[in-house]
Amino acid sequence: MRSKAMVFTLVICALALFSCSTSKSDRSGSGGGGGSGTGTGNGTGSGTGTGTGTTPTGTGSAKVVIDFDWALKPNVDTAELEAKANQIKEINKGLYKATEGQICLGAGQTLEDGKSTGDIIICEVISSGMGITGSPMTCGRMEVGMGKRGYYLIICNRAPPTVFLHEFCHGEFRRYYSEEYDCRICAMGVYTVGGSEILHYCDDSDCQAASNYKPCWDTYILAQYPSFTHTGADPGNAPECQVTVSDK
Ligand SMILES: [Zn+2]
Ligand SMILES: [Zn+2]
Repeated sequence: MRSKAMVFTLVICALALFSCSTSKSDRSGSGGGGGSGTGTGNGTGSGTGTGTGTTPTGTGSAKVVIDFDWALKPNVDTAELEAKANQIKEINKGLYKATEGQICLGAGQTLEDGKSTGDIIICEVISSGMGITGSPMTCGRMEVGMGKRGYYLIICNRAPPTVFLHEFCHGEFRRYYSEEYDCRICAMGVYTVGGSEILHYCDDSDCQAASNYKPCWDTYILAQYPSFTHTGADPGNAPECQVTVSDK
């Protein structure tokens, strides 16, 4: 696992060089790991030549590029924190895909552990009666009124990226207090730890909601972002985001 994460990070570094983006090193918070990473850095030349070569060269661009401050409530070791940073990169891929390449995370993500305030708060258990110990296990929540985008999200540590997309829709697209748990093809139908991985928001052509029929694209996303297009086309690979880690 650890070596995989390292290779992944190296590829990111290679990409950053490749795309000449304004990237900061996402290894800045780590000590030994960073050292060995640069040691094998030359090896990433071949890595870039393989799968990552398909990453769009105009990286770092989307109509909306968002930088979040991520707070991981538990104080964890460096390896776990870096695993979480990689998870943020996975979330970015899902976000880019679900928005058809129109929203991505930018070069300014920060991730700090042992912290309980931020734009995105990741915690072990969501308290306040969210039923995390019940079944199904609810593992996300959105609150309006704080955070640099006017909302903040609380996500369970074990949640799949789809749960981020679910809560993000509530906040960013202002789908306030409007659920469609029965829309099984949409991220809004996923809200549990063991839920499916659905990197998709529904529209009028595929929404399955019965009682609260408000397709995400038609009712919320395009209303919030009139300049967005919605064609259903796969946007390809997401630009890599950069996560600056602070280990406590
Ligand atoms: Zn939906
Ligand atoms: Zn729907």
